[in-house]
This record gives sequence, C-alpha cells and structure tokens, in this order.
Amino acid sequence: MKTISILGSTGSIGTQTLEVVRENQDIRVAALSAGSNIRLLEQQIREFHPQLAAVWSEEDAKSLRIAVADLPVQVMSGMEGLEAVAVCEEAEILVTAIVGMIGIRPTMAGIRAGKDIALANKETLVTAGHLIMPMAEEYGVKILPVDSEHSAIFQSLNGENRSRIHKILLTASGGPFRGKKWEELKTMRVEDALRHPNWSMGRKITVDSATLVNKGLEVMEAKWLFGVELDQIQVVVQPQSIIHSMVEFVDGAVIAQLGTPDMKLPIQYALYYPDRRYLPGDRLDFAKLGSITFEDPDTETFVGLKYAFEALRCGGSMPTVFNAANERAVSKFLNHEIGFTDIYAIIRECMDGHRVIPSPDLGQILDTEQSVYEMIESRW
Ligand code: NAD
Ligand code: MG
Repeated sequence: MKTISILGSTGSIGTQTLEVVRENQDIRVAALSAGSNIRLLEQQIREFHPQLAAVWSEEDAKSLRIAVADLPVQVMSGMEGLEAVAVCEEAEILVTAIVGMIGIRPTMAGIRAGKDIALANKETLVTAGHLIMPMAEEYGVKILPVDSEHSAIFQSLNGENRSRIHKILLTASGGPFRGKKWEELKTMRVEDALRHPNWSMGRKITVDSATLVNKGLEVMEAKWLFGVELDQIQVVVQPQSIIHSMVEFVDGAVIAQLGTPDMKLPIQYALYYPDRRYLPGDRLDFAKLGSITFEDPDTETFVGLKYAFEALRCGGSMPTVFNAANERAVSKFLNHEIGFTDIYAIIRECMDGHRVIPSPDLGQILDTEQSVYEMIESRW
C-alpha cells in the first residue's frame, strides 16, 4: 500500500492523479489541497477519505468544514494548510499538482519531512531548482518528474550512466499557433490560445504552450532534474506529441519514450517507480499513424523560448523574473487585460529591468517575485 498527498487536487494533474488512485487498489490518499473549488474538493474527500484537506482562503475553509462535518477530516487554510498537507505524516509521496511559485514553500516542507516528490509544479524547479535539488539529496528523497517530457527523459535514462548523456532532445508540440508569424500572433485571443491540439491541461499551462514559454520552463526544469548544461538541451518540435522526449548518449544512440498523449502515464509511473502498472487507454498504432515529423522551433516569432534560454544563461534570480513576469502576464491575458504578444513584452521589460542576484535564497526569490509583480502593476 502506498500513501500520497496532493497539492492542487482539483486541477488537471490533480484530478488525473485521483483517476490513477481510483484505478489501482493499493494507493491511499492522506491529504488533499485545492485553491477554491470546494464543491469538487468535498466530492474528493467523500470518495478518497483523506484525514486532512486544505483550501486557500479561510472563508472557503469555513464552508468546507460545514459541508464535511459528518466526516473525520481536518480542514485548514492558507500557506499553513498547504504546508500541513505537504508534511502529512502518513504520506510517502507528495504530488505537487499546484500551479505557480506558490508551490515552492510546501514542496520544500515536503522534502524536509522526507517525502518523495512527484513533481508536476515546474515553476518551483524553475525558480528554486538550485535550492530544491541539493535539499532533496540532503534529505534522501526522490524527485520523480510528472511533466510528460521529463518523465520520458527519466524513463530513457533507466539503467544508464548519466555522465554519458550527450544531449537531451526535449520535444514540443509547437502549440496551437505553430506556423503563425508575428502579425497574426498579435491578434490571437484567449479562446484561440486555450485550444491545444493534443493535450487537455489547466488554463495557465495551456497559454504557456501557445507562447512556447512552457517549453522554456521545461528547459530549465530539465537542467535541474538531470544536471545537464544549457547547451546540452535541444528543443525539437514534434507536432503529433507521440515522442515525449529523447536522450542522445555519447556514442550517438538515441533513446526515447513514445506513447499516446495521456498524462496518466507519467503520473502513474512517478507513483509506482521503478515498477510499471497496467494503464487502460489507447495504444500507439504505428501503421495508422504513418509518420512522425520534426522541425526546429521558430524562436524569432515565439520569442518567449529565446528569452527562457537567456534567463537560464543569466542564472541566479533571472529565471524567477522570467517565471513571475510570465505568471502575471498570463493571468492578465486570461482576464482580457492585455494581448497575446504583450506576454512577451512584459517578460522582456521585467528581465531588462532586473539586477541579477547570483544565488538567491528563498526570501530573495519571493522578494524578486513580489518586485516583478509591483513593476508590472505600475506599468501595465
Ligand atoms: P490547474 O490550473 O488545472 O490546477 C491547479 C491546481 O492548483 C488546482 O487544484 C488549484 O485549485 C490549485 N491551486 C491554485 N492556486 C492555489 C492556491 N493559491 N492554493 C492552493 N491551491 C491552489 O493546473 P494543471 O494544468 O493541473 O497544472 C499544475 C502544474 O502541473 C503546473 O505547474 C503545470 O505547469 C504542471 N503540468 C501540468 C500538465 C497538465 O497536463 N495539466 C502537464 C505538465 C505539467
Ligand atoms: Mg510538458
């Protein structure tokens, strides 16, 4: 029997994690947390019987306490609630399915409490990878990637000597706007950006996939997870999303993981690693597929990917600036306050205005996030 806790159980990754739990008889849920969807969280509490649940606002926590008064579950709120879920004694694995930098503190709390981390929340590694990875080593916990590309790389590295990696080939679908040029990109609306060709995901990451900022964040995530240098990571567009990523070794051999696009595979792999379990769903039919195609990303149009490489090259607090500026810009775009390409303009402006802190501690990362938000509020 395995016991898990989930940060962000009502989102796309969170609900799919619970589907994996539902389909397997030997996983238990110790604690759940959600932002504000207390109706769904209540249903999840009734089905999975966690001992602890957390929501963001105390007002929602009060309503939830009344709704589940017949059950032996404790309901908490705020950062205190997130951290309590992260350290919940019974759980061995913490699934970080929360979106954004708010995941940093609870992830660190989970590591300190000795939990293996099934990590979907890439923003945490992007901004605090230099703190998280050594901390995981110090506490002897595993960081198990849930992001499909990173799971593919992780699977491709099974049994291999990591010092023999020549490069990582990080695949990208290219998103809904692949092939478009700048003038057209400028006119894209929220509805257009939310229509991803292959994956159904949360709103923020879906917009990130349309800007290719998601791929930039994944480059940073890969650097921390696999300890490679920036010039060892190459982004390859593979529009059918069949090859989830590849590793080229020093002898020229390329090992890849392929499959139909289904996030339950990487989620389940992280929960059962190094074992594999049966997973219902479509299988690849190569003859029907016919071909898989490849191209370079268009970084002159989708400049967010170029800015990500630049932020990573600068290092220190610059990836935090890149990420925080993007988080705020995407939320403004989703609120129809700015246009699609303004997301890039905001990231650019924030990066240009920032003096890099070489190796920021947690306080400096959170201060940098705050000052980025203030700068955006004053100018946009
Ligand atoms: P989502 O928006 O669908 O879900 C986010 C979850 O976080 C929800 O449960 C929400 O309630 C919770 N949350 C948000 N703000 C919160 C707060 N202040 N306090 C507590 N909980 C809060 O997002 P998602 O698509 O599931 O993505 C989650 C993470 O996984 C992101 O970092 C994303 O980049 C990553 N990821 C997602 C996918 C995918 O297929 N969806 C794939 C790879 C990586
Ligand atoms: Mg991904």
